[in-house]
Amino acid sequence: MEELFSIHYAEVGLKGKNRAFFEKRLANNIKLSLQGTGYAEVERLHDRILVHLEQRADIPEIKERLRQVMGIAHFELSCRTENNIAAIKEAALRHIQDASCESLKVETRRADKTFPLTSPEVSAEVGGYLIKETGARADMHNPDLTCWIKITHNAAYISTEKIQGIGGLPVGVSGKVLVMLSGGIDSPVAAWQMIKRGAKAVFIHFYSYPYTDKASLEKVIEIAQILAVSNYRSTLYLVPFADLQQTIVTTTPAPFRVLLYRRMMTRIAERVAGMVDAEALVTGESLAQVASQTLTNLRTIEAIAEIPILRPLIGEDKAEIITKAQRIGTFDVSTRPHQDCCSLFVPKHPATRASLTELDDAESGLDIETLVEDALNNLEKQVVE
Ligand code: ATP
Ligand code: MG
Repeated sequence: MEELFSIHYAEVGLKGKNRAFFEKRLANNIKLSLQGTGYAEVERLHDRILVHLEQRADIPEIKERLRQVMGIAHFELSCRTENNIAAIKEAALRHIQDASCESLKVETRRADKTFPLTSPEVSAEVGGYLIKETGARADMHNPDLTCWIKITHNAAYISTEKIQGIGGLPVGVSGKVLVMLSGGIDSPVAAWQMIKRGAKAVFIHFYSYPYTDKASLEKVIEIAQILAVSNYRSTLYLVPFADLQQTIVTTTPAPFRVLLYRRMMTRIAERVAGMVDAEALVTGESLAQVASQTLTNLRTIEAIAEIPILRPLIGEDKAEIITKAQRIGTFDVSTRPHQDCCSLFVPKHPATRASLTELDDAESGLDIETLVEDALNNLEKQVVE
């Protein structure tokens, strides 16, 4: 008899011939998440992943960490035993011993149809035994405790609580994205949503020191570290943006500045994406939240982009985004004061409907390639984990 975690996945199981790839990645991510908790081994079976435990394993901590692993539909702490009825009865009793319940029921599923008893027969036999031994009564409708028994070809699993996982897909199975991380509330949530769909996030941040202080840098580093709980070890690229902004301010009309900053950021980010094999950029933009996020303006940013710009929050209200940020744990860092580089030297009334031609004209005095190259030459790299 052995106590272990059984882990079940939803979409991963559906992916046809990619299945082994998905399962391997999930198993590997589970190992990364459980470092230092006292797990002994992560084993892949054909329909689940088992986490074997050392004697000293920190079970509450393991539960907490598994709750955050992308790609897990649900999991449970199980007792694994031989698939014969005597062993199952003993294991079930041991497994529920600490639970102190007044009523219980047993539910059985058999994957092994050659097992000599039917599922209802197993439930009745084990249920009768548990009632006799613990003094609890049977309650089929509203029991304090349900004991689930799963009988497979070579083992039986007994568990009493099904813990909901986060869902999504294992990080890394959907490729890589470069997230434009600002230090605000939205972009970390956008990153998290992509990570949840299995994308590995690499980050880029533009800062205007010495025009602004370095608060945004500290914030994005912390945010990327919080996201590393599900995204694991990654890289944050820091781009000094002050000189480029100076150039824009001295050579272009004021109403277009934010959009011009954004276009330059996008061009630089695209080059970094190429360097790290990211297939898309991700932003925290949400439709019409601010002037630069009207459809017309999004289009003018999009117009110069050569790889997809993904905006997972495009249809979300600010209140919904805030709730998510609180759940993910980035909200408190995001709401600490900082000066965003895009708020520098901007007019009170920025253009909400800049046309493509207007923007192209506004940019005509800029030596775009040199500005991008300069920015790339000054790129700093920070590991986040
Ligand atoms: P956020 O809460 O993510 O800062 P926001 O609502 O403040 O978003 P904007 O400031 O218009 O919106 O920024 C829109 C998006 O552009 C951000 O979500 C982010 O993806 C990107 N962005 C803005 N500023 C920066 C920056 N300094 N570095 C990297 N990306 C940025
Ligand atoms: Mg912002």
